[in-house]
Amino acid sequence: MSKSNSILESSIEYLKGVGPVRGELLKKELGIFTFRDLLFHFPYRYVDKTQFHRIRDINQESDTVQLRGILRRLEVQGEGRKRRLVGKLRDETGAIELVWFKGVHWLEKSLVVGQQYVAYGRVNSFRGAINIPHPEIEPLNPANTQQASTFAPVYPSTEKLNAKGLDAKGQRKAIKVLLDKLQENDLVENLPDYVLKKLNVSSRYQALQDIHFPPHQQALDAARNRLKFEELFFLQLRLLQIRRRRKDAIKGFVFPSIGEYFNTFFHQKLPFDLTGAQKRVLKEIRQDLRTGVQMNRLLQGDVGSGKTIVGLMTMLMALDNGFQACLMAPTEILAQQHYQSISNYLEDMPLQVAFLSGSVKGKKRREILEALEAGEIHILIGTHALIEDPVRFQNLGLAITDEQHRFGVAQRAKLWKKSKTLPPHILVMTATPIPRTLAMTLYGDLDVSVIDELPPGRKAIQTLHKTENHRLRVIGFMREEIAKGRQIYVVFPLIEESAKLDLKNLEDGYENLLREFPMPDYQISIVHGRMKPADKDFEMQRFVRGETQIMVATTVIEVGVNVPNASVMIIENTERFGLSQLHQLRGRVGRGAEQSYCILMSSFKLSKEARERIQTMVRTNNGFDIAEADLKLRGPGNIEGTQQSGMLNFRIADLARDGRILQTAREIAARILDHDPRLEQDIHQRLRQYMEANSKKFRVWSRIS
Ligand code: ADP
Ligand code: MG
Repeated sequence: MSKSNSILESSIEYLKGVGPVRGELLKKELGIFTFRDLLFHFPYRYVDKTQFHRIRDINQESDTVQLRGILRRLEVQGEGRKRRLVGKLRDETGAIELVWFKGVHWLEKSLVVGQQYVAYGRVNSFRGAINIPHPEIEPLNPANTQQASTFAPVYPSTEKLNAKGLDAKGQRKAIKVLLDKLQENDLVENLPDYVLKKLNVSSRYQALQDIHFPPHQQALDAARNRLKFEELFFLQLRLLQIRRRRKDAIKGFVFPSIGEYFNTFFHQKLPFDLTGAQKRVLKEIRQDLRTGVQMNRLLQGDVGSGKTIVGLMTMLMALDNGFQACLMAPTEILAQQHYQSISNYLEDMPLQVAFLSGSVKGKKRREILEALEAGEIHILIGTHALIEDPVRFQNLGLAITDEQHRFGVAQRAKLWKKSKTLPPHILVMTATPIPRTLAMTLYGDLDVSVIDELPPGRKAIQTLHKTENHRLRVIGFMREEIAKGRQIYVVFPLIEESAKLDLKNLEDGYENLLREFPMPDYQISIVHGRMKPADKDFEMQRFVRGETQIMVATTVIEVGVNVPNASVMIIENTERFGLSQLHQLRGRVGRGAEQSYCILMSSFKLSKEARERIQTMVRTNNGFDIAEADLKLRGPGNIEGTQQSGMLNFRIADLARDGRILQTAREIAARILDHDPRLEQDIHQRLRQYMEANSKKFRVWSRIS
C-alpha cells in the first residue's frame, strides 16, 4: 500500500478533534472506522445558505429558513424537563421566537441580547403559533461573506452523536478537518481521462471536496454526477466482466436439435398461437442453447404475459436432447400451480412430470428421488426442496426458476451442482416485472428477454377504487357477476406483525359474506397461510373446479394462481398492500375472455402514499409502469425481495432517479470491455487497479449467479 493510501486507512479517532470517545461513537453509530469511511459519509441533504428569509414572509408552510436579525430578548422559561431558553429575533420586517431545550445553560451564557445573529432552522407551527426550535445560531459577521454563500451539508445523525457534539455541525467540522488534510494524490483518480472528458464530470478529488462543501449548485451537481457515475459504473463493469468471462469460460450443453417432444407439442398440443413476443423470446433461448455456452437468461414479462408456456417449451428442448429439466418456484402454491398446468399441457405425451416440496414425504418422496436419479422423470417441479442434497438428477440440462426475487447465492450454487458434468442452462423468470434499473443491477450479469405483449383477446381489467360507503353496491355487483357464472376473489391483508387482528378481519369478512351469500345457493372458499396445507389445497381445488363462487383469501393466492373463470378481484384494506403486490393480485383475474374487474376497497382517509398507489393502480394495467412507480414511491431498498441484497446499498446512486446515468455507465463499461476485455491497456490501468484494490467489494457480485 502506498503512503498516500495509508492516510485514508487511518483509524478515525486519530483525526484532530475526534479522539477515542467520539471515535468509538462514530464506529458504533455510523459505521465510520477510518478516514476513508468519513470521507464517503455523504451529506443526505444541503441547506441553502445563500439566501436570507424575511421574517414577515414566514408562515406555517415554511420549511427551513435562514434569518438575519437582532436578538431582542433571551430568557429561561419553565422548570425541569420543560425548562427551555426562549429568544426573540427581529429583522426589519418582524420578529420570531427561537426555542432551545438543550444546551440551555451554555447558550444563555454565550448569546448576547442586542447583537446581530444569523439563525438557521426548521419552522415549527403549533396551534397557530410559529417558532423555530433548536436553530443553529452564530453572530453575524459582515466581513465573512462565506456565511451567506454556501450550501451547508447535513449529515445523518443520532441522539447519541448529538450529545457528544457530533450533530450535523460537528460532523461538518470533522469532515472539514479531513478534507484540509487530504491532498490531490491521496484520492487517486479511478476513471480514465477520456471518460472524464467525455462525461464532462469532476475529477475524483474535486468531486469528494465538492460533495461535502459545494461552492455553488453547479459544483454540487457535477460532484454528484461524478460520484453516482463512479458507483454505478464499477458495478456494471464488474457484472459485464462476469457475464463475458462466463461466456468465454463456462461451457454449456449443446442442444443441437428441436425434436419430437417440442414439435408434437407445438403442432398438436399448444392450445393457442404464441404471441410475437413469445416467439421472439423462444428464438433467443434457442439461440443460446445451440452455442455450447451455458445459458444464463432472465425472462421478464408482465403478469399473464405467458411466461410459463415459454418455460415449458424450453424444457421440451432440453428433453428432446436427452436431458432432464426442473422448475423451481418460491412458494408451495405456485409450484403446485405450475405442476398442474404443465401436467395438463403435456397430457397424453409420454413424459413423466413430478412434484416435489417439503410436504412430499415418506415413500412417495423416495420413489420420486429414485425415479429422478434413474432418469425416469423428465420434468421435476417444486419448491426449494429441489435443491436439497438428496435430490439427484440423472442429467439435468435446464433449470428454470420462477422468482419473486433473486434466489440467494448458496441456492444458486446448489442448483448448478445438480448437474454432474457441465452446469445446467439457467432460465430465470421473474414473477412480476421489475424496473429496468433494478434489473440491470440485480440481474446485470444475465442476458435479458422481455415479453412485452399480452396474449390477444384479453380485455383490459377495469380497476375501481371504492370506500366502505359503497359496500352495498359492491355486494350487488358481486351478485350480478356470480349470476353470470363468474367467480370472485376477496383478498385480505395478512402480515406477521398484526397477524391476530388480520385473521380476525379475514374471518369477520368471511362471516359477512356468508350472510350476504348464503348456502346452498352460494359456496364460499377460504384460504389463508395459517391453515394446514391439505385444507388449503382442498379449498383451493374447490374454487379451481368452479364449485365455489367466492374465494376469501390472504395473499397466499398472490402468485401464479390461474382460474380463468374468475372475473372479479376485490381487495380489502387496499392501503395496506404494496404496489407490486396489488398488481400481482389483480393479475389473478382477466385471464379468461370475460370483462374483468378489480375493486380496491379502502378507508376514506388515506395517506398520500397510499392514495398514490391506488391512483397508479386505477391509471394503468402495465406492470412495468407500476414497477417504476413503486420504485419511485418506495426506493430500491424496499422493493420486495431485494432487501437482503447488498447490491442495492448504494452510497449515492439512486436507482429510482439515476436511470440515465446507469444506462451511460453500462454502455461505457460494455464498450471498454469490447475493446479491452482484460483491462490490459495503459489507459485502463486505473480501472484495473481500482477493481483490484476493491476486490472484496466486487467479489460479492461475482458469486451471485
Ligand atoms: P405469467 O407470465 O403471469 O406466468 P402465464 O404463463 O400463467 O402468465 O399465462 C397466463 C395465461 O395466459 C395462461 O392461462 C396461459 O395459458 C395463457 N396464455 C399464454 N400464452 C398465450 C397465448 N399466446 N395465447 C393465449 N393465451 C395464452
Ligand atoms: Mg407465472
